[in-house]
Amino acid sequence: MRPRLSGDLRRANRVEVMRSFYGGRTLTRGDVAAQLGVSVATVGTIIGELTAAGLLEETQSARSAAGGRPASRLRMRAAAPYLVGVDLAETHVIAEIFDQAMTRVGHFQLPVAPTDDDPDSVVGHVVDTVQGVIAALDGVSAADVAGVGVSLPGQVDREGGVSIHAPNWGWHGVPFKSLFQKRCDLPVLLDNPLKAITLAEMMFGEAGDHDDSVVVNLGTGVGLGVVAEGRLLRGRTNSAGEWGHTVLVADGRPCHCGSRGCVEAYIGAAALLDLLTEVDPDSPLLVPGDQAATVARLAEAAARADPVAVATLERFARPLGMALANAVNMLNPELLVVGGWVSAAFGEPLLAAVEPVVKEFSLTVPYDAVTLAASRIADNPVSLGMAVLAFETFVLP
Ligand SMILES: [Zn+2]
Repeated sequence: MRPRLSGDLRRANRVEVMRSFYGGRTLTRGDVAAQLGVSVATVGTIIGELTAAGLLEETQSARSAAGGRPASRLRMRAAAPYLVGVDLAETHVIAEIFDQAMTRVGHFQLPVAPTDDDPDSVVGHVVDTVQGVIAALDGVSAADVAGVGVSLPGQVDREGGVSIHAPNWGWHGVPFKSLFQKRCDLPVLLDNPLKAITLAEMMFGEAGDHDDSVVVNLGTGVGLGVVAEGRLLRGRTNSAGEWGHTVLVADGRPCHCGSRGCVEAYIGAAALLDLLTEVDPDSPLLVPGDQAATVARLAEAAARADPVAVATLERFARPLGMALANAVNMLNPELLVVGGWVSAAFGEPLLAAVEPVVKEFSLTVPYDAVTLAASRIADNPVSLGMAVLAFETFVLP
């Protein structure tokens, strides 16, 4: 059981009140109280603490409906300290820096070569990128940064700061946090990209308006995040959402996780390239060794109804729709957000192709309750989610 002491509850309440203001919202105490279903007095106490800590500020006043004293509005203070969110992926490391109101003020990116799998070397790229994004911002130094949130692919032990297993690099038990802190003394925390993306969708996307939602990430790897009764589901070992490694086909294709028939082996970007090759082995849309370029060409060709691209998308929609239907049947969400770079490349045509398949394989009652939507977050949701976690860990009292 997790501890449920009053100190934890007070902190949890501060997090909930603070989250009401993300995304540039200006709200009265009454708005927050109504949203969270608690008394205005309780919200007033917490807002007092957050204002005293320099996190919220009063803006203009709103005339109350009853015509009495105007209710003052509050918003997050755009100020130092800054937070850095890092998206470390198989092919790149992206660091973005945000002010305290979670507005992105800088971006810095370095490539990671496929052969570059030595932990020291990868951590070195991360530190270089963090230092690069800070150095690029005029008048800002490391002293103005409260902390760094780093997203690592695979299984991550947040408390210990350890990468338990990153299959792409063959990592087992890499002490990422201590390697980072040998090179850089900024406070750092780790998490997995699925958790970061889901938090970003909860705070800045449509998932925040629904208590039960699923956020699907389609890229080289695939996975999903679960919001259940308004909370991010982590599971016992922070592994909740490893939908990419649930089995879609008994004894099917081998997966790089070591199992067979996984969802990811059928709908990861590599599988999409395999489908294109099956449809037309000599397709000019294929860019050997470059998933991103091939998917971009494929999406552009599908948009102009190129028959090879359309046939590839239709074949891709079958396993994708089946796997999404499994998520609908298992989790009964109100909203299913589809994001990630593969989804972003195709846009609406992907959802249009997949929706009938989801309907075919879902039970009627949960299907009728769910809305499918493409992610609308324009920024990199991984670095945004990690910056939010860094803010809540290193800044929020
Ligand atoms: Zn797998």
